[in-house]
Amino acid sequence: MSNIQDKVVIITGASSGIGEATAKELASKGAKLVLAARREERLAKLQDEIKANGGQAIFKVTDVTSREQMDELAALALKEFGKIDVLINNAGIMPQAFLTENKVEEWDMMIDVNIKGVLYAIAAIVPSMRKRKFGHVINLSSVAGHNIYPGGTVYCGTKFAVKAISEGLRQEEAMNGTNIRVTNISPGAVTSELLETTTDPAMKAGLDEFYQVAIDADRIAHAIAFAIEQPADVGINEMIIRPTVQVG
Ligand code: NDP
Repeated sequence: MSNIQDKVVIITGASSGIGEATAKELASKGAKLVLAARREERLAKLQDEIKANGGQAIFKVTDVTSREQMDELAALALKEFGKIDVLINNAGIMPQAFLTENKVEEWDMMIDVNIKGVLYAIAAIVPSMRKRKFGHVINLSSVAGHNIYPGGTVYCGTKFAVKAISEGLRQEEAMNGTNIRVTNISPGAVTSELLETTTDPAMKAGLDEFYQVAIDADRIAHAIAFAIEQPADVGINEMIIRPTVQVG
């Protein structure tokens, strides 16, 4: 039996891209999914598709920048399925621009979604894992959490933060013997809707060019499934997954 079978998995940002691909991959391997994002119609369509293929999924419209909504999401998962085995902190935005553009609202949004969203999910969901002494937190950082480049300063800052949160959480849970695994996933260019969050036209054109070599989101879904599939005493802590021909 797959080590994914019957695991209850919460995915934030499940309405497109990597989150959607991961939902389909894990559903095909028998996971019970709790799908979260802001676009209800996308979540409903994904739920229908998963169910039509024999999988299990529920969804809740959730904005990860709201602590209250994250708490409600955790409560729903516990009410419906009685436990949460895996949290996939995937929701993210990438409105890139040079600092000289002073897009302060976009800086705030990136910090709220990419950093505070991850922390609110940890606050809402990890306590129930600690009680059971079992769980797995998977955070989507990025190659931008390892390398810094002009125009990506704030986005890189948020993804460096995600990497720091992953490693800090890992160390603290290991120290406390909670058996909670932590995996930090750092994709390179992946085809998704992420580039649509960049509003600066010149920056968007540059990203479109860079993403000519992007890989499909299901490649990242396979890597996430691999991390979950490992025996409970094995933590895959860090994965960097680039297109083979991506340089930076
Ligand atoms: P998409 O834009 O396709 O997906 C992003 C998801 O995040 C959507 O489902 C969106 O749903 C959700 N989201 C955005 N804001 C919020 C919010 N406030 N509350 C809840 N959900 C929200 O991009 P990807 O699939 O590519 O991105 C997934 C993750 O992977 C991100 O963290 C991204 O930074 C990371 N990543 C992506 C790479 C790539 O090349 N694509 C490379 C490296 C990392 P909705 O709008 O319905 O709320």
